[in-house]
Amino acid sequence: MDQFAVRDGELVVGGLSLSELAAHAGGTPFFAYDRALLDARMRELRETLPARIELHYAIKANPHPELVRHLAARVDGLDVASGGELALALQAGCSAAAISFAGPGKSRDELEAAVAAGVLLNIESHREARELADIAARGGRAARVAVRVNPDFELKSSGMRMGGGAKPFGVDAEAVPALLGEINRMGLAFEGFHIFAGSQNLRADAIVEAQRLSFELAVRLAEHASAPVRVLNLGGGFGIPYFPGDSRLDLAPIADNLATLLDEADTRLPGASLALELGRYLVGEAGVYVCRVVDRKESRGQVFLVCDGGLNHHLAASGNFGQVIRKNFPVAIGNRMDAPRTLVANVVGPLCTPLDVLAERMTLADAQPGDLVVVFQSGAYGATASPQAFLGHPAPVEMLVG
Ligand SMILES: *Cc1c(COP(=O)(O)O)cnc(C)c1O
Repeated sequence: MDQFAVRDGELVVGGLSLSELAAHAGGTPFFAYDRALLDARMRELRETLPARIELHYAIKANPHPELVRHLAARVDGLDVASGGELALALQAGCSAAAISFAGPGKSRDELEAAVAAGVLLNIESHREARELADIAARGGRAARVAVRVNPDFELKSSGMRMGGGAKPFGVDAEAVPALLGEINRMGLAFEGFHIFAGSQNLRADAIVEAQRLSFELAVRLAEHASAPVRVLNLGGGFGIPYFPGDSRLDLAPIADNLATLLDEADTRLPGASLALELGRYLVGEAGVYVCRVVDRKESRGQVFLVCDGGLNHHLAASGNFGQVIRKNFPVAIGNRMDAPRTLVANVVGPLCTPLDVLAERMTLADAQPGDLVVVFQSGAYGATASPQAFLGHPAPVEMLVG
């Protein structure tokens, strides 16, 4: 993982060594997110993708308030998936006009809060349409809506499929014309479509194909809409490398394809803007998780480094967040970065469950109690996607640094 510098054998994040960061955090474990890396990633996207592509941040990937505030000032919009995230987005200073709200089980309270704030609602069912019409009728404020479409195709090579086949997300493409009729009759303010096929994809050709198919689907469905499409949200899903053999996503073909789609949109979806809502790709590589070795023990010929945090803080690194076959995240002994890797060890957390594994039989620097274990690629789906109450250990500190 070469996005971070090493100083005197210690990994440096946001200009501070891991031991300095541990002092700031008041100990371990902690997550640190590097501001400069977030900015570099935004810059890369802005420089590579066509200028007219709107870039949104999907808060779900990392809702740390300081990080959200930082990104809110740099992206074109925030995507939220709960009432809590909606409040966070508004507190981060994002204008309601630039917030969209997706999610398959929006409650009455959430829908009311969203209409009151004036954000765009990605409708995922007939019930949501009816509730929104009722809320608008009672409150006198028109609900801004887009239709989240469950596409009639699947994203190839996706780490986690979010569309195609039978899914709880969105409305099946073939049922969308009827829903559009209902939206029209109910007087909801239709603004566009949201089509998100899947997460963690490292293959540009698969993403290009999904974006092309999403565009064609939106053009077909637009014929049934009562108002022009103002926004076509093509979803997130850009992947980052985690495992040996993973290669970096090539943005160039995606940029070319988006430029073509923008050109076509001028005639086929006039007035529409194209948006991406990225989570993992924006924040994943900018973050590390750091815990401390509490014990080093041997069992039947294997070495175990037992740390003060594990799956309770970082479920994804333990392999229990969507992995089918467990693979090691990139892990290192963060205060011995210059030392030769001579120790084959299992890195485990403190929980009484065999699932609490951060690295299995990994070759590491020779580590002792007190040393710092660092898990890279931890800026997305880390603390937020972990069962922090499990076993009652303290929550990790999270810091935006640099
Ligand atoms: C999770 C999610 C995203 C972000 O996905 P990434 O794979 O992290 O880019 C975007 N949009 C919606 C609706 C989501 O649920």
